[in-house]
Amino acid sequence: MSEQARSALERLVVDVPDFPEPGIVFKDITPLLADPEGFAAVIDALAAAGRDADGTVIVDKVVGMEARGFILAAPVALALGVGFVPVRKAGRLPRPTHAAAYALEYAEATLELHQDAISPGQRVLLVDDVLATGGTVCATVDLVERCGGTATAAAMLMELSFLPGREAIGDLPLTSLMVV
Ligand code: AMP
Repeated sequence: MSEQARSALERLVVDVPDFPEPGIVFKDITPLLADPEGFAAVIDALAAAGRDADGTVIVDKVVGMEARGFILAAPVALALGVGFVPVRKAGRLPRPTHAAAYALEYAEATLELHQDAISPGQRVLLVDDVLATGGTVCATVDLVERCGGTATAAAMLMELSFLPGREAIGDLPLTSLMVV
C-alpha cells in the first residue's frame, strides 16, 4: 500500500463514539471520500487485492455491500476493468434474488443478490469499508456461492481487531488496509 493511502486512512477516517448506539465507535469514512487524492490512493490499494503479483487481474466481478461498500467497490471494479455487483438490503433489488440473513455488530438484517449477477465459475472480490463481526462478509460469500461463483478474496479499509471478523471468514484471503 502507498504511503499516501496509509496517511489518508490515518488522517481522514473519523471515530464517532456512541453512534448509532451507545458503545459503538463508528468509523466515519466521509472525510476520506471527500479527499480526491486520498480516495484514489485507497481505491488503488483495495484494487491490488484483485491482481496477482504480476499485476494480472484475477477476478471477474467486484461485489460491494450496501451501502458504503458500493462507494468503494464501484471504483475498484472500474480500476480492474471488471463488472460491479451490488449486494443490497432486503427488498431493494427488482428481479429474482438469493437472500441470506446475517448479524451486524449492532443489528440484524438480510442481504440479497440478483440470481443472475454472477455466472457459474466466476471469481469474485468482496469490497466493504469495515470488517467487524464478519457477518456481512459471510452472508455475501454465501450469496456468491449460491450463484455458482467463488469468493476469492475480501478487501476492506479497516478491520476491527477486537471483534472476531477474521476468524469468522475462515480461509477467505483478507486485505485490510488498516487494523484497529
Ligand atoms: P460485520 O458484518 O459485523 O462485519 O459488520 C460490517 C458492516 O457493518 C460493514 O458493512 C460496515 O459498514 C458496518 N460496520 C460495522 N461496524 C462498524 C463500525 N464500527 N463503523 C462503521 N461501520 C461499521
